[in-house]
Amino acid sequence: MPDKQLVPDVPASELRFDPVSQGWVVIATGRAKKPEQFVKPKEESHGVGEEDPCFFCDLKTQLPPKLLKGEGDNWKIAVVPNKYPAFTCCFSLDEQEIGPYKKINGLGFHEVVITRDHQKHIGQFTVEEVKELVDVYQERYLELMKEKFINYISIFHNHGYAAGASVAHPHSQIIATPVIDPGLSDSLDGSEKYFHQHERCIHCDMIAEDLKDGRRIIFENEKFVALCPFASKVAFEMRIYPKEHHAFFEQLGNEEKAQFAEALSAAMKMIDAALQDPPYNFFIHTAPCNGKEYEHYHWHWECFPKTSVWAGFELSTGIEISVIEPEKAAEFLRSKREDRF
Ligand SMILES: [Zn+2]
Ligand SMILES: [Zn+2]
Repeated sequence: MPDKQLVPDVPASELRFDPVSQGWVVIATGRAKKPEQFVKPKEESHGVGEEDPCFFCDLKTQLPPKLLKGEGDNWKIAVVPNKYPAFTCCFSLDEQEIGPYKKINGLGFHEVVITRDHQKHIGQFTVEEVKELVDVYQERYLELMKEKFINYISIFHNHGYAAGASVAHPHSQIIATPVIDPGLSDSLDGSEKYFHQHERCIHCDMIAEDLKDGRRIIFENEKFVALCPFASKVAFEMRIYPKEHHAFFEQLGNEEKAQFAEALSAAMKMIDAALQDPPYNFFIHTAPCNGKEYEHYHWHWECFPKTSVWAGFELSTGIEISVIEPEKAAEFLRSKREDRF
């Protein structure tokens, strides 16, 4: 029996397929805004979205938690269904074709991972606290992948209003869907193509080259490496890879999670120090949970600090005109690490 995430009074969303870009978009009317609400506040800061009182501080204002770490008032991390979900649980997957178009109902799950402290973001967490967060990501992933129709689970975190965090209280989100997002699809396709041509994993080859070169590495422990990618899309882009080839994030063992948490904590502290608490988005790219083999894929974590505003050229081409080489960005990040450790 699927775990029902019944959210009263929220209309179902739908997924629409773009036949040209071959990508899906979500039309989530449950999150509907009046047109005038799309006007951005003039002042952009982390403070925008502060509620008084904050409804993430008070769990009683939320739907019952799916997972709670800590007891009663001493809770540390809570996972609650999103009150304004992009996806909601339905009982069946309805697909409809309309001329050249296609749509399905927005079946899925949308959860919010709330860490207790209103002021403290991940860059200020201890490594142990980051590890607890990674444990929670994995625990919910393993639960959600059991649900019917779920083929992909996305874990992401928006920090700061400019990066899309509409609530100031630190939180991550988990979305479980029947469809694979275009960003991951591109990543899967690219990896598969290389694998067929070279019989090797592109990510493993990239990691080997980056470790040999050394200039883009910002942190390394026995099992993980954090770096600024060779072809960074944005200035100060960061990635964390497991050194060993592995397609599935959810299969991480306890020691690997501890080392991933150490690398994640180091990366977050460096970016905070280097750019003075910038807004950013991070997410985990992992192979879909649709039961297929993904021997060509190598799961990883990616972080995009909001270091620039995408204007016409960037939006139309998807290419950012970067103002700093990844090697220089990595050097600056490393210098901040030495200052702080
Ligand atoms: Zn709060
Ligand atoms: Zn690999």
